Amino acid sequence: MPSNSTMTKIVWQYSETLPEETMTFLRGIAADCCKVKNFVYERYSGVKKINSLTPVYTVLNEMRYCGLREQLNLPAVYYELAIADAVTNIKCSWSIVKNKVGEKITANENLSDDDKIYLRTVLKMGSVYAAVLNRQQYEMPRNAVELDIDVKRLNNLLCRLTRRYLTQPKTDAADVFRISPNGYSYKDGAMRIVCRIPRKRISIPLKDTRTFDRQIQVHIKDDFIALAVPIEAKIKKHQDYTNTVYIHMGNQDMFTLSNEHIYGVSLAELTSPETERLAKKNQERRRIYTSYRQNAESGNRQKIENIEANNLGRRKYDSQKEKEKRRTTNYINAEINRMFRIEKPACIVITKPVTKNKTKLYSKSNNRKLTRNFRGYIRERLAYKCQINAIELVEINSKGTGKICSSCKAEGKRQGKEFICENCGLKTTIALNSAKNIQQKYIEKSKGSYVQNWE
Ligand SMILES: [Zn+2]
Repeated sequence: MPSNSTMTKIVWQYSETLPEETMTFLRGIAADCCKVKNFVYERYSGVKKINSLTPVYTVLNEMRYCGLREQLNLPAVYYELAIADAVTNIKCSWSIVKNKVGEKITANENLSDDDKIYLRTVLKMGSVYAAVLNRQQYEMPRNAVELDIDVKRLNNLLCRLTRRYLTQPKTDAADVFRISPNGYSYKDGAMRIVCRIPRKRISIPLKDTRTFDRQIQVHIKDDFIALAVPIEAKIKKHQDYTNTVYIHMGNQDMFTLSNEHIYGVSLAELTSPETERLAKKNQERRRIYTSYRQNAESGNRQKIENIEANNLGRRKYDSQKEKEKRRTTNYINAEINRMFRIEKPACIVITKPVTKNKTKLYSKSNNRKLTRNFRGYIRERLAYKCQINAIELVEINSKGTGKICSSCKAEGKRQGKEFICENCGLKTTIALNSAKNIQQKYIEKSKGSYVQNWE
C-alpha cells in the first residue's frame, strides 16, 4: 500500500435542538427531493434513456427546463443534487441488470461459444447494447464480425433478459437530502442554509465550530439534524507500528489482548443500563399508546391532543437514546485509538463474526442486549481505522478458541467470566484464554502446523 494514498471517510456533525418550524422546513425539502428522485426514476430508468445518463449534465440540463423545480419551489442547491443522486442510482441498477444478464448468458447451455462472445461483447459496449435494446442500427463490433451467429435471435434474447431484470427504482426516504457547497455558509457558530425564499437563509446552530466546503448529506432526526461530510483522509503508515496483536472481542470488556491488556473496560456496563432503561421506556410508551387509544375511542379530545403534543412520548425517548448512543460510540472510538497508540500494531488478529442463525437461540432480552451492545459498530470502526492506519486486519475462524484451555489444550469449564481447566489447573478469564488461543491458532496456521485441536 503506497503511503501517500487516500480514502474517503465520513465525519459527522450535529446541530443543536432545532425549533419545530425549522424541522418542518427541512422535512419539506427532504420530501421534495424524494419527489424529484422518483420523477427522475420514472423518466430516465427506461431502456430508451440508457444512453443519456452519462454525462449527468445532459439529464440536469433537461430537468432544468421541465418545470418541476418551479412547481415544487425547490432551490437549485437541493434540486440538482437530488437529480444527480437519482442518476447515480439508475446507473447502479443498470450495472446490476448487466451482471444478472451476464450470469444468465454464462449459464445458458443452448448458447454456443460464438453466441456467448457476441453477447458479452454487446453487454460491455454501452452504445451497442443501447442500440440493441432500442432496435436501432449499429456497427457490428470488430471482434464479432467473424462469428458464426444468428444476430437477430441473440438480440431478442438480450432484450428479453434485460426486460426481465430491469426494474424502476423508487424511493420513499423522506428524511435525508444533500446540499451543495453554495447552498450553505457559516455565521456565529451556525450554518445558514438556502431556503425557499430568495436571498433568505435559515440558521442551523451547530454543536461545534467546524466548517466545510463540500456536498453535505443532511439526516433529519426528531428535533435535530446530523450532517454527514465526506472527507479525503490520508492513509498513514506508521513506521514504528511493528507488532502483531491478538484480540478477543467480548461482551463485557470490548477488547482483551493475549498480552493481558484490556481496552474498552466494562463497555457492557455503559450499554446495559441503557438496555434496561429502554425496556422500561418501552413499557411506559405502551401504556401511553393504550391510554391514547382508549381516549380516542371515548372521544376525549383534550387528552388526545396532550398525548399527540408529546409525539406519543416518542420525542424525548429518541433524543435520549441518541445522546447515549453517541456517548458509547465516542468511548469505543477513543479506546480503539488508545489501543493503536499503545500496542503499535502492524497486524491485528480477531475472530470472524459467529454465524447469524445462532442468534435465534437466544432469548428475546438477550437478543436485544446483543444487538444493542455495538459489536457490529466496533468491527466496522476497527476495520476502518486499520485501513487508514495501514494496519493489516486478519479474521480467523473462532472454532475452538472459546472452550479449549490455552495452556494444555484440554477442554475447560466456563463459569460466568471465569475459565477453569481441571486438567492443568489453569484459572483465568474466558476473554484472556480466548485471546491466547487466537494467538496460538494464528501462529500454528501461519507455520502450517495446524493440528486438529481447533476442530
Ligand atoms: Zn489446561
